[in-house]
Amino acid sequence: MSEILLNYINGAWQRADSPYQSVRNPATASVLAEVPLTPAQTVAQAVECAHAAFLEWQRVPAPERIQYLFRLKFLLEEALDDLARTITNECGKTYAESVGELRRGIENVETACGIPVLMQGYNNEDVARGIDEHMIRQPLGVTAAITPFNFPAMIPLWFLPYAIATGNTFILKPSERVPITSAKLFALIDRLNLPKGVLQLVNGGKETADALLDHPLVRAISFVGSTPVAKYVYSRAAANGKRAQCQGGAKNPVVIMPDADMEMTTRIVADSAFGCAGQRCLASSVAITVGEARHVFTESIADAALSRVVGYGLQEGVQMGPVISAESKARIESLIAKSASEGAQPLVDGRGKTVRGYEDGYWVYPTVLTDVPPESETAHTEIFGPVLSLMHARDIDEAIRLVNARRYGNMACIFTASGAAARQFRAEANAGNIGINVGVAAPMAFYPFSGWGESFFGDLHGQGKHGVEFYTQTKVVVERWYRGWSRQF
Ligand code: NAD
Repeated sequence: MSEILLNYINGAWQRADSPYQSVRNPATASVLAEVPLTPAQTVAQAVECAHAAFLEWQRVPAPERIQYLFRLKFLLEEALDDLARTITNECGKTYAESVGELRRGIENVETACGIPVLMQGYNNEDVARGIDEHMIRQPLGVTAAITPFNFPAMIPLWFLPYAIATGNTFILKPSERVPITSAKLFALIDRLNLPKGVLQLVNGGKETADALLDHPLVRAISFVGSTPVAKYVYSRAAANGKRAQCQGGAKNPVVIMPDADMEMTTRIVADSAFGCAGQRCLASSVAITVGEARHVFTESIADAALSRVVGYGLQEGVQMGPVISAESKARIESLIAKSASEGAQPLVDGRGKTVRGYEDGYWVYPTVLTDVPPESETAHTEIFGPVLSLMHARDIDEAIRLVNARRYGNMACIFTASGAAARQFRAEANAGNIGINVGVAAPMAFYPFSGWGESFFGDLHGQGKHGVEFYTQTKVVVERWYRGWSRQF
């Protein structure tokens, strides 16, 4: 009998009266738990609790609010191993990758502990005679996040710490494909003794998300997921008068110049393209070789793809786990087949393979496609699997044109020994996160996660100062005090 997952509402665990969906381990296809698809009336109950909690929480001094986050950081460190194993079991990535994502999530808790400074406003004395002016930041109210499957711990932590540190209350709707990590995260949160309703968890899919998007007391929505859903969430939130930041999909190009250190470049690009089975919004999925880089890189990346150890992420030595579901495996394999029909060559083909002892898992091995036509669907579609497409350019100008020909703008990277090439790339590449001799240019918690184009809808990104601005509204106070008033009144 698998575990029945609960919602966390008003400081207590609640069983939802709703349909349930099975959560599977993608390495074994075995059922780990049943997740509720929480209906709108239960979401409304959570939102009302969050609103009642907000009325008190907003007045708790920021230095007091962050004490809960210091404790959360401690509990997360203590539970790191168990959380990492949980992530691997429900999401498929390797244990080391799970630890890595937890570290990046914890970094956001640490950064949000600086809120007393980060949310300071500014002021001027004597903007006119006897008149002072101040800007102060105040929280919005009830806020919510709708998060994807591929980082079950890190992505909720991109938002949750900033939301409550700034004085909001917060509801998480995690991906229904990886809800166990959130259940464990909220078991830690339960030990914080936060006032009831400050942090809540509602499980579910579209209907649950829609209930948050439509409830008038929800003031801000943070979303991370695929581009079509990001667009939908952004427009529905905006139509309902909410603030929204919606991070979408990606197709990240990496340019390899002939002067790059080929050994290092191959290792880093292979980790970027095949790490987390390519299911990262910052995975490199198109490698554009320039000039003579073509032959040597093609050979070395094919070797790296063939030698990557694929298997169950809790086993020693495994470098890549399965993809998230049978549907995802089928979709990735059909896109590889499509690429061949568009003229690409599967130099390394990861279809139709399995892992001994884990024959029911959702395996797609590293795949390298060469001669991908720049205008083809393969060159532009987010595959979200361990598939690297190779293209070629004569010089850096042509490579940058290829980089900028895509609708996404999450990340673009260059590998080179030339400062001038790196500088040109930094200036001209249309992407919000740039890597220079770096394959996964993931901003630290104190920098915004700056997607551009169809990778982001909104203006204030997640993390750091952007996160603080997103979760606060500015109030400007113009004030006059006359000497002698206190005597008059
Ligand atoms: P998804 O869009 O399928 O789901 C994301 C969330 O939206 C889930 O919580 C899901 O329940 C909910 N959802 C799904 N369909 C919905 C609908 N019609 N209406 C309302 N809510 C809906 O994404 P996923 O498959 O879980 O995640 C993978 C995607 O996320 C990839 O495209 C990846 O690039 C993207 N991603 C982007 C970033 C980034 O920072 N830009 C980070 C991680 C993942």
